[in-house]
Amino acid sequence: MRRTRVVKCVALFFSVVLFFSTVWATTWADREFVCPVCKTKNTFGVVASYGSYIYQWPSKYQFIYWPLTDEHVVYSCKNCYLSLLMWDYDKLPPEKIPAIKDALNGTRIEGDYKRYTAIPMSVRLDIAEKVYAQLDKDDEFWCEFYRVKGYHYSVENNQPKADEARKKALELATRQLSGKPGTVPVKELWLISGAMKHFLGDDKGAVGDLNTALKTKYENKKLDKEQNRNGENNLSALAKEYIGKIQGPQKPRLMKE
Ligand SMILES: [Zn+2]
Repeated sequence: MRRTRVVKCVALFFSVVLFFSTVWATTWADREFVCPVCKTKNTFGVVASYGSYIYQWPSKYQFIYWPLTDEHVVYSCKNCYLSLLMWDYDKLPPEKIPAIKDALNGTRIEGDYKRYTAIPMSVRLDIAEKVYAQLDKDDEFWCEFYRVKGYHYSVENNQPKADEARKKALELATRQLSGKPGTVPVKELWLISGAMKHFLGDDKGAVGDLNTALKTKYENKKLDKEQNRNGENNLSALAKEYIGKIQGPQKPRLMKE
C-alpha cells in the first residue's frame, strides 16, 4: 500500500518536472555549416523549440531576448575563428570576405574546446565585433550588439567590460534619439536608454527616461494598427514594471541573467 503511494508520488513528481521542462525549455539541434570564409565544416546549434515565455525572462530589463542570451547564438569557426550571430552566418556578402579575412588575421582562440558553445561568449563576441565592423552596420544594430555584450560580460562577472559595453549602447540610443527618426520606435529607444542608465547605476536618469517612454506613443511604420497597439501596451507595461522594480528591493541590475 505504502509502496504504491511512493510510486504514485514519484510518478507525479516526474510528470510535474516534465511538464515544466516542456513548457519552459528552449531546445537546440545540431546542424553542419560550411564556413563562408575558409570552407571548414563546423557543427552549430539551430533552434528546435521555444515559446513566448522568453519575452518574460529577466533579460527583458536589458531589452534583449533569447536566443541573444544563449551560449549557442554566436557561431565560431574552429579553423579561421569567423564569429557571427547565428542568423548572419550564411549571409556574408561575398565581396566583404577579403576584408573579413584581414580583420581575422592574427586572431586566436586559446584552449581546447570540444564545442563552440564552450568558448566564452565574451571571446566570441569580441571576434564578432571585428567582423561586424566590416559590414556597414547601423546604430540600431550596434546598440543591440553592445547590450548583448554587456549582458554576457556581466554573466562572466567582468563588470568593467560590461559597463564599457553598456556605455556604448547608451551613447548609441542617445544618438538615435537626438537624430532624425530612424527605424527604431522612439518609445523603445527611451526604454533602452533608461535600462542602460539603470544598469550603469544612474537610477534617477533611468526613471526619468522610463517615464518619458510611458508618455511617448509607440509608432512603428513596419507594423499595422493592431500590432502598433500591442507594441504600445507591451512597452508601457514593461516601463511601469521597470520603474517599480528600480524602486523596490529586486533591482534588475542585481539579477545575474
Ligand atoms: Zn572558417
